[in-house]
Amino acid sequence: MAAGLTTSKFAVVGGGIAGVTCAEQLASQFPSEEIVLLTAAPLIKTVTNFRQVSRTLEDFRVEEQPSSVLEAKCPNVRVIQSVVTELQARQHILRTENGMQFHYDKLCICTGARPKLLSTETPYLLGIRDTDSAQEFQKQLSKARRVMVVGNGGIALELVYEVEGCEVVWAVKDKAIGNTFFDAGAAQFLIPSLEADKPERAGPFKRTRYTTEDAMARHTSADKGAGLAGGSALGPDWHRGMSLRGAEQVSHKVHVEYQCEVEKISTREEYLQFQQGGQQSSTPGSEPSSDTGLWPVYVRLTNGKTYGCDFIVSATGVIPNTKPFLHGNTFAVADDLGLCVDDRMRTSEPDVYAAGDVCTACWEPSALWQQMRLWTQARQMGWYAAQCIAADVLGDSIDLAFCFELFTHITKFFNYKVVLLGKFNAQGLGQDHELLVRCTPAQEYIKVVLARGRMVGAVLIGDTDLEETFENLMLNQMDLTAYKDELLNPNVDIEDYFD
Ligand code: FAD
Repeated sequence: MAAGLTTSKFAVVGGGIAGVTCAEQLASQFPSEEIVLLTAAPLIKTVTNFRQVSRTLEDFRVEEQPSSVLEAKCPNVRVIQSVVTELQARQHILRTENGMQFHYDKLCICTGARPKLLSTETPYLLGIRDTDSAQEFQKQLSKARRVMVVGNGGIALELVYEVEGCEVVWAVKDKAIGNTFFDAGAAQFLIPSLEADKPERAGPFKRTRYTTEDAMARHTSADKGAGLAGGSALGPDWHRGMSLRGAEQVSHKVHVEYQCEVEKISTREEYLQFQQGGQQSSTPGSEPSSDTGLWPVYVRLTNGKTYGCDFIVSATGVIPNTKPFLHGNTFAVADDLGLCVDDRMRTSEPDVYAAGDVCTACWEPSALWQQMRLWTQARQMGWYAAQCIAADVLGDSIDLAFCFELFTHITKFFNYKVVLLGKFNAQGLGQDHELLVRCTPAQEYIKVVLARGRMVGAVLIGDTDLEETFENLMLNQMDLTAYKDELLNPNVDIEDYFD
């Protein structure tokens, strides 16, 4: 054994939900082996109050905790806070920034993903990912009169709704808001919430949440210095307990620019120079108010409009954190830059598995499942990767976990409960589907996707209580042709109907 080389049977990289779940599972499967968990951040993420709501729907809370909590729970897990900088996959060796070396038999990479930033050159651009960046956002917002949010996924949706006391210009590339999760109909249902004053939150909050308290104080320079390796990704309720308030008196002021992307970002000086040189080729944004030339940063959109703002939030997706692992190895990498994994969570390098946001599911998926880089999938993949590693070590066979049969996601947008099931946006179905919709403004929006008479997807917004029945109808693929008219009839107790 080389000097300074630690040997362990199992190594996991990443202290987010995927890595911690994987390490916990390995620890319980192999109680007499040490599992080394290497992670860049001082805090790890743990799942608490896990509840299997139905066959595939799950609910849990996520907490940020010191690594000692995990080590106390699983005495055979050793957490080492250090950034992994290199992998020699053939030699089965990992190296860290502070010169440590680890030899493993089986490795699971769970290093998550980072925000895809529109530009790395302007200081006026923020990506929100971890506690540090969320607190930086909060700090900048407290002095801001106008921010521009770019992106149309879950983070952008939450942000535009939560921010108060500051104008928000929201640039989306699609025809409707929330395109990652919704169709135009659901977007129309939600738009009035952006225009109305936000209701006060009453009663206990039901969603999963994590603690942000004191996280800044506990952070060391190690995770910041790593550049690409920050803390774990935030998740549902990342804004809970944070005041997302700007410098103005307005409650809620959101202006949406549809079907456009960012063409150019200019500083105030560059913008003024353009104007003085008579090169202003764009129309100042007419809404929400005309520009005065006094903003720190200007954004020209591809629809020709220019908006000045205090800063920009780039919420345009993520890039998997694969960099330390690629050099010198021959990993298959997917188009979205994730490490390709097969249906046993194996990468293309021997004995290297991957789970969570860093990986791309490259197996032939079930007709009702798709990968989305979400908290639930990070937990499921971390859990399943550990089962696959155990099966490999013990020479057992293993079937693809049941959770990959049907896509399910429970969340909350604009204060509405949202459940997404299966091919909720008719993804990949082409024209081969029909939609049934029931909508009661300000109360509920229900959309069912049928393909050849079978239910293949659904969007449930509001307290519809239909998730379990619809989940069953999707899993058993019952022919619903004869029941189409009754399916969304508010006077029919659908649960009873299919009991
Ligand atoms: P992460 O949680 O990102 O963990 C990666 C870990 O790897 C971290 O501990 C990091 O320190 C470590 N690491 C990285 N590089 C290295 C290295 N080189 N060496 C050592 N360690 C390293 N999902 C939902 O389901 N619902 C939501 O509402 C939701 N909202 C979100 C809001 C925000 C603002 C963000 C950013 C994400 C949100 N997500 C949401 C997505 C969800 O948080 C992620 O899908 C999930 O956390 C991914 O878990 P992970 O374990 O794969 O990665």
